[in-house]
Amino acid sequence: ERYVFRFGGGRTDGQGRSKELLGGKGANLAEMASIGLPVPPGFTVSTAMCTRFYDEGEHFPDSLRAEVADGIAHIEAVTGKRFGDAADPLLVSVRSGARVSMPGMMDTVLNLGLNDQTVEGLARASGDDRFAWDSYRRFIQMYADVVLGLDHHGFEEALEVAKEDRGFTLDTELSAAELRELVDEYKALVRNEWGRDFPQNVQDQLWGAIGAVFGSWQSERAKVYRRLHDIPASWGTAVNVQAMVFGNMGDTSATGVAFTRDPSTGANAFYGEFLINAQGEDVVAGIRTPQYLTRAAREAAGAKAASMEEAMPAVYAELADVFRTLETHYRDMQDIEFTVERAKLWMLQTRSGKRTAKAALKIAVDMANEGLITREEAVARVDPNALDQLLHPTLDPNARRDVIAKGLPASPGAACGQAVFDADTAERWAADGKAVILIRTETSPEDIHGMHAARGILTARGGMTSHAAVVARGMGRPCVSGAGTISIDAKVGVMRVGGREVRQGDTLTLDGSTGEVMAGEVATVQPELAGDFGVLMGWADQVRRLRVRANAETPNDCKVARDFGAEGVGLCRTEHMFFDAARITAVREMILASDEAGRRVALAKLLPEQQGDFAEIFLVMAGLPVTIRLLDPPLHEFLPHEEAEFEEVAKATGLSVEALQRRAAELHEFNPMLGHRGCRLGVTYPEIYEMQARAIFEAAIEVAEKTGRAPIPEVMIPLVGTRRELELMKAVVDKAAAAVFTERGRTVDYLVGTMIELPRAALKAGEIAEVGEFFSFGTNDLTQTTLGVSRDDAARFLGAYVEQGIYARDPFVSLDVEGVGELVTLAAERGRATRPGIKLGICGEHGGDPASITFCEAVGLDYVSASPYRVPIARLAAAQAAL
Ligand code: PEP
Ligand code: MG
Repeated sequence: ERYVFRFGGGRTDGQGRSKELLGGKGANLAEMASIGLPVPPGFTVSTAMCTRFYDEGEHFPDSLRAEVADGIAHIEAVTGKRFGDAADPLLVSVRSGARVSMPGMMDTVLNLGLNDQTVEGLARASGDDRFAWDSYRRFIQMYADVVLGLDHHGFEEALEVAKEDRGFTLDTELSAAELRELVDEYKALVRNEWGRDFPQNVQDQLWGAIGAVFGSWQSERAKVYRRLHDIPASWGTAVNVQAMVFGNMGDTSATGVAFTRDPSTGANAFYGEFLINAQGEDVVAGIRTPQYLTRAAREAAGAKAASMEEAMPAVYAELADVFRTLETHYRDMQDIEFTVERAKLWMLQTRSGKRTAKAALKIAVDMANEGLITREEAVARVDPNALDQLLHPTLDPNARRDVIAKGLPASPGAACGQAVFDADTAERWAADGKAVILIRTETSPEDIHGMHAARGILTARGGMTSHAAVVARGMGRPCVSGAGTISIDAKVGVMRVGGREVRQGDTLTLDGSTGEVMAGEVATVQPELAGDFGVLMGWADQVRRLRVRANAETPNDCKVARDFGAEGVGLCRTEHMFFDAARITAVREMILASDEAGRRVALAKLLPEQQGDFAEIFLVMAGLPVTIRLLDPPLHEFLPHEEAEFEEVAKATGLSVEALQRRAAELHEFNPMLGHRGCRLGVTYPEIYEMQARAIFEAAIEVAEKTGRAPIPEVMIPLVGTRRELELMKAVVDKAAAAVFTERGRTVDYLVGTMIELPRAALKAGEIAEVGEFFSFGTNDLTQTTLGVSRDDAARFLGAYVEQGIYARDPFVSLDVEGVGELVTLAAERGRATRPGIKLGICGEHGGDPASITFCEAVGLDYVSASPYRVPIARLAAAQAAL
């Protein structure tokens, strides 16, 4: 097996070899060399050697010696210089290069090959003493740090002292003689700390550096980085040994970094920075202010220092050609490092450039229009999750942030406003035209009006599918949930965090995309749904098979969803309509009623309200399917808490406050999620579902008559586990439909189906499909019930679960395909076996998660339903899943 692959000088043997073998840097250097770009010659020691190195107890096999010697001989042949030659030495860089870039994580050694003899040779050959001694002192410093593991502070201090003694501020003020003295000091430092002399043998230097780069793969920081980015330790890193080229050989030399297009806007213009007479790390270190690459960029910025286009026109023209060649070759925007040594251009690196969501969209659309990539490729190139950045206001990246707490990024977007601690105040202040942030320990359905009135929502408890998170996402309100370090005293109106206090009225900023909570105002910028977004979405729609619907229950949410391209409503949670301030008393009257007659009195008050809601939704969704779910949550969620609330219900019903409180206590449940909820409400109090069904059909007929277009209601029964439950509930719905149709003298088409959100329902899907005309997978509850993990309490421990690899991702965010997914697959099969072509959808939060959507495509569901602001993400993800 071979481990060393050469590149450059017309002898590239790594061409076409994978990133897996050569690492990202090595593969791209080989690629650039093979298409004739000017790459300093070098060789790559493959990642396979890294693996073997660790397998064999951190030793190199003997055969590697010969391979590396061949590699060095290759560089010598191309450059005409010899490694360790006292007259005109070859210097090399030794760099790491894993499959994926791990910025700043691993080690690099530059200027390797210098010693007390070769430094003199370098001085003579370059005609620049200062340059030679500066290179030697940099090399000792870097080698001591990276390879010998000595503390770098001593070296930095020596440099500082050398400058201070002479009254200098810049490194460049030190003369060759002064640098030579510094080198002596550095060597003394090495001797003292390491106990031996700085290695003078260039072969020893080389092997030390190769070992150090492989060793850095198992450094603590690299391990942490891998854990954070899901990079397996088994990948290993490659090592690239390459002839040094120098950007610090006077005013015809330079070094720079560039993007072939603007990475923040996506504009098709070269973008970058360079420094004359400098080495690579000077650009990154920010010691000197870099200059612009192009004249246009310099002029736009109003900068004086000449751009590269103006200062080095010939080299710039060559570089611009390289940019074009690279884009055509890689068919993507590239991020590049280059060096100019005495007017000769050298390419040191290229890779696909990181970019903002906005730039990703523009670049994909532009490249498809330029014919560089196909439309399908353009669709595949944009990360659906990144669209989130575009659909909400975001924090001005240039603004200062005073972060006081961090929670879960529950609903994206940035919001700024005054702190309030209860929903009523939020509503009142908002009505007065104030921007407010609603802060709650956790939210309940009663807070909905306050959430709606607020610009953003912050909770101390609750996970990604907590009430606050789900509702906020549905409304498109930025939300940070489960910020565990804050403590809230709503009565007093204060929030405490890390020794600081936020009082009612104080200004806060939330970033729902990162989970950050900031004191004071941080400026936000509005989303810009420019042309590229629409164009790419159009292309996505042409390739996707899955339909995309929205989870929405207000006309406004439905409108937003339609504007974002929703093709119907996949889940209208009717309980959200019960919390309207005007209705809550009637709802409470219904719950607290001790018999059916009492409930019917209250339901009669709710009927016209529900009917009005449905009619509005049908109007917005004209001609599209609307899935309406009958009442689902535990009744006690609607119960009054305050004395005054009980008094209101007492007034409406004529019952005493005591009697009502007794009834409320009876309704208490130990485990409400598994309690009296879902179709169990319909089984015990069928009159509730009857009223809701009646409201649906009356509204449907009203809209059909008004518009001439009949809506297509899909009535959905929640939390079904058995065929019989569904049968009973379907009978209630059918009976209500028949009654309304007779009264109104006309009919509308409708379906009755069920959610599949209990394991039993999934297992018995074959039987349930005998009754149900469609299935919608409620994967929030199905995850909760399959994993036996409470969706409202999971945040406390799921983090540890993900960290330790028990679940790859939060299963409430990204479907547990192995477990819950198996139930979905099985239910789909069994349902189809009974009722071929049965309509199948998903309406849990996973319906807006790209990875889960890929799974939905594989199972062949008909549609996914996502919260309105995730509809575009779902459209794009569905398209990618179909490609
Ligand atoms: C579900 O359980 O997945 C679902 C969509 O219903 P809810 O979130 O309202 O329980
Ligand atoms: Mg559910």
